[in-house]
Amino acid sequence: MKIKALKGVNDILPSEVNNWTYLENLSRRLFSQYAFREIRVPIIEESALFTRSIGEQTDIVEKEMYTFVDKGKRKIALRPEATASVVRAYLEHGLDSEGIAKLFYIGPMFRGEKPQSGRNRQFYQIGAEVLGSDSPYQDAEVIDIAIEFLKDLNLKNYKLHINSVGCPNDKHKFSQTLKNYLLDKKEKLCASCQNRYERNLLRILDCKNPGCKSILQKAPDISSHFCSDCTEHFTQVRTSLDALDIPYTVLPHLVRGLDYYTKTVFEINHKGLGAQDAICAGGRYDTLISDLGGATQGACGFSFGIERLLLAAAAEKIAFEKEPAQAVYMFSFGQKAQIKILALAQSLRKDGFCVFINHEQKPLKKLLRQADKAAYKFVLILGEDELSQGVITLKNMQDGTQQPLKLDTIADELNKILRK
Ligand SMILES: [Zn+2]
Ligand SMILES: [Zn+2]
Repeated sequence: MKIKALKGVNDILPSEVNNWTYLENLSRRLFSQYAFREIRVPIIEESALFTRSIGEQTDIVEKEMYTFVDKGKRKIALRPEATASVVRAYLEHGLDSEGIAKLFYIGPMFRGEKPQSGRNRQFYQIGAEVLGSDSPYQDAEVIDIAIEFLKDLNLKNYKLHINSVGCPNDKHKFSQTLKNYLLDKKEKLCASCQNRYERNLLRILDCKNPGCKSILQKAPDISSHFCSDCTEHFTQVRTSLDALDIPYTVLPHLVRGLDYYTKTVFEINHKGLGAQDAICAGGRYDTLISDLGGATQGACGFSFGIERLLLAAAAEKIAFEKEPAQAVYMFSFGQKAQIKILALAQSLRKDGFCVFINHEQKPLKKLLRQADKAAYKFVLILGEDELSQGVITLKNMQDGTQQPLKLDTIADELNKILRK
């Protein structure tokens, strides 16, 4: 029996990988301009890291996290996100001694959700975290990177939604108000929200169920519970976004599903994606560093889902980098010619060409079919006769024409033909 990939866990095939590297390289370039440095944190961590940071009673920890007990009886989790790991590494390696740490990461995350378009069990994120800053202007700079990234990708059909969830004190007061408001409406909420009512109240505000949505329309806003510090913080974030010419909409019920968010939260949604339309999510998490054993310090960040960015790009018909233009497919007949093309390909590569050599001795037709299937537009063929005449045949796969090129001047001749 053939073994297949697990459900919700995808291969990223060679034909797709160019898009991935394009995105990754673009983000690396952008992050370095903002003086963010890359960090690579492990894929496995102690489960406690996530239960403590994301929250015991969140969907991620309760239902979606992949955990196992290893041979040393340690409870281990595959990271469902990277923020907690970045904070752990920051504390473990004393990065806080450098003052503010501006970091980014790229890599796979794991959640056992029901797979659907834009939602896999192994999915990839590009994320940024700033640790050690309380400033609302830092929130604005973080949002600015996210928006610049989308601009660099030429995406257009996205919207930035922002809100503030206040400090833990405000959150707590608001929870009481919301609880009272929903008390006599509890029965009308969907089953998950009835469960959330007891366990994770604020998540009710995120519910997409139309019944819940209409009940919540008249629910009080968290902003009415802000202390003066949180009010001022949110005002400064918005003022900065205005100054940066970044359009946004304030969604008073945007709370995000993780326990650790405080003050600013945001989401960037793309209209080409259907139900799972968030391509980026982030916010401030001022209690996380101290929750994980550090001093009280502010922090904020975001993450992009790479799969969703690619879906958004596809929806906008944006094509990223193609195969290198100067690519040739090469094969030969006879031992002498086989050895000759090894050296020939080596020198062409030094001249910047991408050369695929098919070393198999097969009929011409079959080799040409393989070249065509691999989407090469130009093929170089060297037979014993040609070798003795000092030439090689170049076949144009698009129009079927072919011409001899002199072996001595092949790089120049190819340059003229392929780079025009
Ligand atoms: Zn507050
Ligand atoms: Zn609901």
